[in-house]
Amino acid sequence: MSQKRIAIFGSTGSIGTQALDVIAANPDLFTAEILTAQTNDTLLISQALRFNPNIVVIGDERRYPAVKEALAGTSIKVFAGEAAIEEAAAMDCYDMMLAAIVGYAGLRPTLRAIEISKPIALANKETLVVAGDIIMRKAMEKRIPIIPVDSEHSAIFQCLVGEGRNKIEKIVLTASGGPFLGKKPNFLVNVKKDHALQHPNWSMGAKITIDSATLMNKGLEMIEAKWLFNLSYEQVQVMVHPQSIIHSMVQFEDGSIKAQMGLPDMKLPIQYAMAFPNRIANDFPRYDFKKPATLTFEDPDIKTFRNLALAMEALRLGGNMPCILNAANEIAVYAFLKNRIGFLDMTEVVEQTMAKIAFIENPTLEEYFETDGEARNFAASLIHM
Ligand code: NAD
Ligand code: MG
Repeated sequence: MSQKRIAIFGSTGSIGTQALDVIAANPDLFTAEILTAQTNDTLLISQALRFNPNIVVIGDERRYPAVKEALAGTSIKVFAGEAAIEEAAAMDCYDMMLAAIVGYAGLRPTLRAIEISKPIALANKETLVVAGDIIMRKAMEKRIPIIPVDSEHSAIFQCLVGEGRNKIEKIVLTASGGPFLGKKPNFLVNVKKDHALQHPNWSMGAKITIDSATLMNKGLEMIEAKWLFNLSYEQVQVMVHPQSIIHSMVQFEDGSIKAQMGLPDMKLPIQYAMAFPNRIANDFPRYDFKKPATLTFEDPDIKTFRNLALAMEALRLGGNMPCILNAANEIAVYAFLKNRIGFLDMTEVVEQTMAKIAFIENPTLEEYFETDGEARNFAASLIHM
């Protein structure tokens, strides 16, 4: 395998830093060509000094002088600002984008990469939730792969390797259930940020950790799966599997089920996406069949975790509804992280925004952008009250 130049968009995050661990462990296979971050200039600088990329971009322009000064005397080009992140994505100096920015902010850079025919290793699920039809269509036009990094979708992708045109009957997305599995609304109403930020099986960025606690994450993943694997609403099932050993499953037309298993470690799907179609040897801990010895499955409690029910509704309705759901959810999660609203209020914000913003059945890209803005403004207005 020739050396692949990886552009990591969101290099300072949970996914980004783990991707750099993979690159550091496989210097003959990968280089870091572009690194971008929003605010963490200190980490971005130390990553740049260590990996010597071609380009770094800091989103927050106030931090540009610090980054520029620290990297003076190197050959690394330094840029700043939101537009510069997009422009970096459009530069023809890398072989694959790792889309690891969190939230809607990841959409435009990913679109730019697709436009110049760069394969995408996709961690940023919100991109597909917001505009999955357009992303998949453009990727098809450019004949570039979108390889999932999200562990469930990586599992399904791995199960599909070698299946050619064999039809999928359904997929089963597994969910850990999050830290509040089995809890009821009378408990959830009092949940505070610090408690919600503790996930039992995965260590992740703040936004996805909250989404995992509310089960919105699994809802976003249902929508992500629909687009990645071209499925209908009825073909996507969620099962709670608290041990997080089976990362997801595919059931084929003959009833046969394939599962992908392993200990929960995001480095595995990250390196799989970066190295596909090859696998890379590593010394990550292996699953011992006695720890845990029992794998269990149960239906999600969508009456308690209503965010999942709302996401299922958005998936069923289609159009711009998932975009509305996503925008309201981003506003709600950040308000919860700032202690402005309670745990269950997040669902209220999403539900009311979905009821308010005009439904569009077949939105253009511009209409997705507009929908996102409108939904954000309305969701924010609910929080100010
Ligand atoms: P994180 O918060 O740890 O990191 C986010 C990265 O994006 C950082 O580098 C940050 O600087 C950058 N960023 C944040 N806001 C930005 C903005 N407005 N513009 C440009 N850059 C911005 O997030 P994470 O946990 O690494 O998650 C990244 C993405 O991967 C998310 O979409 C998440 O759903 C997905 N994902 C994460 C995991 C995980 O284990 N962390 C698992 C599956 C999927
Ligand atoms: Mg996941």
